[in-house]
Amino acid sequence: MSATGILLCAGTSVRMGFDKLNTPLCGKTAIERSMDALIAGGCDALVFVVNEASEQTVRAIACPVPFTVVPGGETRTDSVRSGLCAANGDVAVIHDAARCFVSPALVKACLDSARAYGSGVAAIPVTDTVLRVGADAVEPLDRSTLFRMQTPQAFRLSDIRRAYETGASATDDATLYAQSIGVPRFVLGSEDNRKLTTGADWAWAVERLSQPVYGIGFDTHRLVEGRSLILGGVPIPFEKGLLGHSDADVLLHAIMDAILGAMKLGDIGKLFPDTDERYRGVSSRVLLRTVAGLVQKEDMAVAHVDATVICERPKLAPYRDEMERRIAEDLGISPNAVSVKATTTEGRNDEGKGLCISAQAIASVRKK
Ligand code: MG
Repeated sequence: MSATGILLCAGTSVRMGFDKLNTPLCGKTAIERSMDALIAGGCDALVFVVNEASEQTVRAIACPVPFTVVPGGETRTDSVRSGLCAANGDVAVIHDAARCFVSPALVKACLDSARAYGSGVAAIPVTDTVLRVGADAVEPLDRSTLFRMQTPQAFRLSDIRRAYETGASATDDATLYAQSIGVPRFVLGSEDNRKLTTGADWAWAVERLSQPVYGIGFDTHRLVEGRSLILGGVPIPFEKGLLGHSDADVLLHAIMDAILGAMKLGDIGKLFPDTDERYRGVSSRVLLRTVAGLVQKEDMAVAHVDATVICERPKLAPYRDEMERRIAEDLGISPNAVSVKATTTEGRNDEGKGLCISAQAIASVRKK
């Protein structure tokens, strides 16, 4: 059974105060996000119902399934009717583009319900007390019978067309379906499937998309005579230093791997191979700045770094502040977002015997 998604992109964003459907939200418009979910949820064709502004957005999207673009009407009902006229297939999945956090799983659940029972409407039971407030009295409504309607609302195409042919008007499709076909099947919606209506919704959406991503890093270098010891970009007076192709700054290496891991960009071995002569003796601070540049290029920012150096000798406490300062400087972030700690292994392991120094790090990155 084929399914056509009817994506409503003709709203005017009156309550938002700016064009919520066509303004990129962390790099992608609400229209694109909704389109992706409808397709991932099982729609094999789309009808975009647009106004002038959203038509431009839609025309610029590389939609991977067959699609048509039709003009919306004065009201939501008019817009849906226009979309239904252009739809083909057995099932129509009607969706408000402003609900751009809809999951493919919810789309699929509505679609499956429509295939099995003729309808599948996303809705959430009301948990708050709801009062009908009059001038002189209030009336509590029985919330066990109350549901908040969302979209997607999926129906057998012939049924929902018939419901819309009556000429009645409503703010959702289930209402019209109920009036002429019968009580629809409901599918449990999701609080995440929030309609971007007000500035607070937009702020919530930005926050949700800005959740940090974490990466971890680990490195070890051997302690040998005849090398300088550099940790966190700070030269440290000691009778030995770390052996390596670069300056062997084990702390910066662990931090870089943590950042690259969070970005899914591989590791420093891949980026700066030790077979490359350009990196012989290079300061790891130069490499750290290169990594910071890659993060920036992806329109991301390092949110925080926390690291532990595992080292028996020398004592690192006097250098910690300077390490944090230099790391922060190279990453272009506040020193408050960088934490460097040190520990010994109480004489145990190779670190404890003074054969090597190791470092562990965790870093988080987020959308700018
Ligand atoms: Mg290394």
